[in-house]
Amino acid sequence: MPAQILVVEDEPAIQELIALNLEQAGQRPVMASSAEQALERIQEALPDLVLLDWMLPGQSGLELARRLRGDARTKKLPIIMLTARGDEEDKLRGLETGADDYITKPFSVKELQARIKAVLRRRAPEITDDAVEYHGLRLDPASHRITGKGKDLAMGPTEFRLLHFFMTHPERVYSRTQLLDQVWGDHVFIEERTVDVHIRRLRSALEKSGHHAFIQTIRGSGYRFSRA
Ligand code: CA
Repeated sequence: MPAQILVVEDEPAIQELIALNLEQAGQRPVMASSAEQALERIQEALPDLVLLDWMLPGQSGLELARRLRGDARTKKLPIIMLTARGDEEDKLRGLETGADDYITKPFSVKELQARIKAVLRRRAPEITDDAVEYHGLRLDPASHRITGKGKDLAMGPTEFRLLHFFMTHPERVYSRTQLLDQVWGDHVFIEERTVDVHIRRLRSALEKSGHHAFIQTIRGSGYRFSRA
């Protein structure tokens, strides 16, 4: 699943450079030239990560970061601050505000990708391209392949995303609402029983290798992915 990255940057040349680079890395960039525009974009759909320029016309990047951290919906949104300022005190201020990381301009595209990947891996491992393994089950997002004990397992795109989420968040119980938020995405309104339909399909896709038992129903709570 490509990560949707909101780029908040007022300089067109830098905006374009970042957008091009993100697209080449298989990510989906969404652009905003000001904090106000960024809030509009976030209102439309919650991105997976925000690349936020410190110096913006109007409200600064720092103020926007503070605002995002103060809102329940965006509290956990990963933020990487971009800035021309190199000094340590500014860096600390940025991190105190709640930015996950900090990149000083000028930066190389390689550095940008490395930071994005590191933050996504930490905050949302299900949207990186890293292959995941769990007790004989292997899911590779890059090739879109799933194998269980060496056997190829076929499943639909929703089941794939659901399994990817489970495999990157094992041993925890998720309610249907949480799964809808995490797997189907924000601002998508689907009935909770849709989750049950896809759980059923996922279980049947995993039967071939015996991994269906890992998808556990926790009565009154939801579902858990676990070996035990
Ligand atoms: Ca700027």
